[in-house]
Amino acid sequence: MPEPLRLVSIGAHPADVFDQSGGTLAHHTARGDYVACVALTHGARIHDAVISDGMYHRAEIPAAPELQQLLADRSDVKAQEVVAACRILGIEDVFFLGEDDGILLVERDVIRRLAALLRQLRPDVVLTHFPFEGDGQVCSHAVAGQIVLHALQYAGSVDPGDRNPPHRTAQVFFFGQGAAAVRTGLWDARGGYTNDIFIDITDVIDRKFAAMECLASQGYAGAYNRKRTETGDGAFSGHAVAYGEGFIRMQAEVHYHLPLSAYARQRSRESDHEIMRRYSWRLPMPVTDDLATRPQPVRDAESPTGD
Ligand SMILES: [Zn+2]
Repeated sequence: MPEPLRLVSIGAHPADVFDQSGGTLAHHTARGDYVACVALTHGARIHDAVISDGMYHRAEIPAAPELQQLLADRSDVKAQEVVAACRILGIEDVFFLGEDDGILLVERDVIRRLAALLRQLRPDVVLTHFPFEGDGQVCSHAVAGQIVLHALQYAGSVDPGDRNPPHRTAQVFFFGQGAAAVRTGLWDARGGYTNDIFIDITDVIDRKFAAMECLASQGYAGAYNRKRTETGDGAFSGHAVAYGEGFIRMQAEVHYHLPLSAYARQRSRESDHEIMRRYSWRLPMPVTDDLATRPQPVRDAESPTGD
């Protein structure tokens, strides 16, 4: 058995790690890998029912002390939702860096705190936002990706006050959603970047759905969750599996043999309609226990690189 991997998924807002990598993380916890989640900001403003929605049409918002208290209360609500969602995916370690999601900037303090956490957790793999998502500047996902890149770099050195030794992370997988849209191959990239890794999350899509249901304070439960499951994970499958999560790899990798996944081999041997049947399967709504028709993961022991 290979040594278990250590994964850390880092999101700008509390919901991001589930939205973008929840199914993938569920696979890794099930395999016995270490998985931790980090929320860079408290996220009290992002789609929040009280702060961002409830105050929008008011004539006047509360005075500063009351507003501060409300922000703190809503941060706590979000944090509890994140812990509940993590539990569904088998994740116990969750870290909240507590930055304000109002103005997120690439700043020394948050970089140092995140770098210290990386030296402590010592991940092999970090998952985070693509640093050029959206406009690449004001988009808080892009800024979060840039903060993580700085922290990864600084974690490789020492910092007075942090007794943990330097740490280098082996690979970074950037969240594809919102960054590379649904691009699925080299020809879509046109010289730019593209999702080059898809994880088939069909076997855990009901658990990811349940985790997203926990994020009720920002309106993700119910109708929104159903819609995003189909238009996000459902469309984001590389057109080979029913539900997927896409990633953009940061580092080119070295192999001894040419890598070819079991999925690629199966797809090449399936007929047109067999492939269409596999990716056309939909999670029953409401989610029931009857998931018998769900396509099974492709697990080929002979797979040269594993999945
Ligand atoms: Zn976000």
